[in-house]
Amino acid sequence: MSDKLTHKKNLTKFAVQIKCMDSNLLIDKTQDETRQGEAYASQAGSGVFQKHFYIESYGCAMNFADSEVVASILEQNGFGGTKNIEIADLILINTCSIREKAELTIRKRLTEFRRLKQANPGVLVGVLGCMAERLKAQLLEEEKLVDLVVGPDAYRTLPDLIAEAGTGQKAVNVLLSRDETYGDIAPVRLDNNGISAFVSIMRGCNNMCSFCVVPFTRGRERSRDAFSILAECKDLFDKGYKEVVLLGQNVDSYHWSNPENNTSTTFAMLLEAVAQIHPSLRVRFSTSHPKDITDEVLQTIVKYDNICKHIHLPVQSGSTRMLQLMNRTYTREWYMAKIDRIRALLPNCSITSDIIAGFCTETEEDHQDTLSLLQYANYDLSYMYFYSERPGTLAARRYEDDIDLVTKKRRLQEIVDLQWTLSNESNKRDVGSTFEVLIEGNSKRNEAEWMGRTSQNKVVVFPKGHFDFKKGDYAKVKILDFTKGTLLGRII
Ligand code: SAM
Ligand code: SF4
Repeated sequence: MSDKLTHKKNLTKFAVQIKCMDSNLLIDKTQDETRQGEAYASQAGSGVFQKHFYIESYGCAMNFADSEVVASILEQNGFGGTKNIEIADLILINTCSIREKAELTIRKRLTEFRRLKQANPGVLVGVLGCMAERLKAQLLEEEKLVDLVVGPDAYRTLPDLIAEAGTGQKAVNVLLSRDETYGDIAPVRLDNNGISAFVSIMRGCNNMCSFCVVPFTRGRERSRDAFSILAECKDLFDKGYKEVVLLGQNVDSYHWSNPENNTSTTFAMLLEAVAQIHPSLRVRFSTSHPKDITDEVLQTIVKYDNICKHIHLPVQSGSTRMLQLMNRTYTREWYMAKIDRIRALLPNCSITSDIIAGFCTETEEDHQDTLSLLQYANYDLSYMYFYSERPGTLAARRYEDDIDLVTKKRRLQEIVDLQWTLSNESNKRDVGSTFEVLIEGNSKRNEAEWMGRTSQNKVVVFPKGHFDFKKGDYAKVKILDFTKGTLLGRII
């Protein structure tokens, strides 16, 4: 059957399904600290293009996925990507505003671009993403070397903005949109491993957690056309990819209405349709807001072996009083019941979390509640931060940032120490078990070893031995030992 036909068949199957239903140790790829500041390299080769752009990405996976959309728009407009900043005509930095430290890192990086601009005054420097959206034209005042400021919903206008900036004008577009999803743009993949790819399924967020700047920098929530998501995943599989990571700030509230027949697609339905593309295509997703992850989603994970057994379920705090101030819309007990439900349905599922220490008015008792919740949830891994007040958020407007830095850092350290123990125990439990590992490539340290991941998203390193495996294959690996960030095993 031709590719086109298979593709059409899958879309039809999907449409039918919608109609019927209308009635570290464990590295979370979506928040991979090791990828901060990663530069893009064109796969088309630098000889094809007369002009070149260089792009660095910071922050969450959505930003990395957006950089791939930007790369696609630029390549269609005559710019080829380069990893060599010295030869770039256009230097872009895709930014994050989530914590003050993230913004400071980007400010520092911008000062490093000054030298390049002095050496080549014709080079254009652009700030993209959340920091562009938050600071708007103010960025041009504060960072004199910046020529372009482009918010996350304005990437289609980049070619015009570049032309404008080329005439010596400063160019700004930070308009947020209610419907932009870039659904029709085929992202140019960052030069990743060719095995795992991000697929953006929605943009923005309506949740208004009081500490969070995202609703202000990324705008209202909107879901991408389900057919284009499915087509992108299918295309990735046809190109040899073995894993797709469905991305959104709150994937469980994905909801798309087909304008042709008004049928709805929920996240569970989308997940199922992607899982049905092929049993050897792994499906991951992130992030789940605890209030929105449904039993239907959990049952779908149970039903398909290729939907990975890993749920990132950020709790933020273990204290109901804090959760209320954070506007998370669930209580400690409600969250614990959700953990119980996941454990009951998916006993081999890893669960990870995000935690904030030292939010406004947090007492020692609230902090103890967070520690005991960590114990209860028994997370395999957590991303842990101390609270950083962000201008314009509900918390910045309503509450005093009254926990001193020493206390914030001490509480954070206590959370980190406990999580380290839990992660270590999680590792220990894996020793002696056998996992199906998707091979992503050579281990960083030793070319005689493979590196891959379990369904639970744990990194495994194991000797290649005399077996004939290649990147993208699945190997059965028995875990023999572990280091801080990695399981160690052998093929069986
Ligand atoms: N949408 C996701 C969710 O609801 O879990 C995550 C969004 S955010 C990019 C990732 C994490 O950053 C959050 O889960 C939270 O723990 C942390 N975060 C957000 N705002 C923060 C702030 N002002 N200070 C410290 N950490 C913050
Ligand atoms: Fe921010 Fe809350 Fe939305 Fe996550 S769900 S992006 S923490 S507002």
